[in-house]
Amino acid sequence: MTLRLGVPNKGRLNERTIELLRKSGLDLGEDIGRKLYVRVRNQDIEVMFVRAQDIPEFIAAGAIDMGITGLDELAESGHQLINALNLEFGYCHLSVAVPEESGITDVSQIKDGSRIATSFPNLTRRYFESMGKDVGVIVVTGAAEIMPYLGVSDYIVDLVSTGSTLRMNRLREVGTIVESQAAVITSQAAYDGNREQIDEIVDSIRSVLVAEDKKYIMADVPRDRLPEVEAILPGIGGPTVLDISGNASFVAVHAVVDSDKIFHTITELKRIGAKGILTMPIERLVE
Ligand code: AMP
Repeated sequence: MTLRLGVPNKGRLNERTIELLRKSGLDLGEDIGRKLYVRVRNQDIEVMFVRAQDIPEFIAAGAIDMGITGLDELAESGHQLINALNLEFGYCHLSVAVPEESGITDVSQIKDGSRIATSFPNLTRRYFESMGKDVGVIVVTGAAEIMPYLGVSDYIVDLVSTGSTLRMNRLREVGTIVESQAAVITSQAAYDGNREQIDEIVDSIRSVLVAEDKKYIMADVPRDRLPEVEAILPGIGGPTVLDISGNASFVAVHAVVDSDKIFHTITELKRIGAKGILTMPIERLVE
């Protein structure tokens, strides 16, 4: 059965999502720019380009089987779906922010009857209700940050990533409602019907994420320093050691190392007399 996968058609999550899918082995073809959907060439998958915001709704309705969107959108939708994999990008948090001059430093100081502008009305209502506060929620579709300045609202609830938009608009964060990042989402019904295909896609994406944090390293090291090599290159179950033809005093070692340790690893290998040190990116790593 053709699996339908929802991908954000624009916005912050679009580019990286497409990059991850391509790296995972989905052939999306060239020039997907304005297309509403593409049939993946090498697998029985259809990719639908839709708004990140709509993806949880479409999954819940059974219109698509899985999708990539922000956990903030999943929480806002209120649907009970499955988060199959956190994707470690699109990090942000949904926060309550107030004008700097309001004197408010904590969300508990917000008074009943305050007006809050947001494009996340469900999460905002639930959050203030859970605090026992009776606030008015003004729904906007974007640019919430400008609303206090325009007099449309007293405070806002909006996504914050670096915080620079808030600072630019002289707003201060006083409470966090939800932490978010991009994730692969599916439903129990879709998973029950397409378990193998969904697992395959999720495992492929996971293998790309794991590989991006690793490098493959090769080096020729003096045979009599091998015990030290094992301490320098733990690898996945120890380094691979190979004979070099015509050179009895050196062996070739291959290993997978964390990208952030590569600098130190090379220094250590040089210290024990390694030669011909080579590092390479890894496309996918299935552990
Ligand atoms: P920043 O200035 O980096 O804090 O970004 C804040 C602006 O970017 C706000 O207008 C947010 O609505 C938007 N934003 C931040 N992070 C995300 C995200 N992960 N997904 C969608 N919009 C975001």
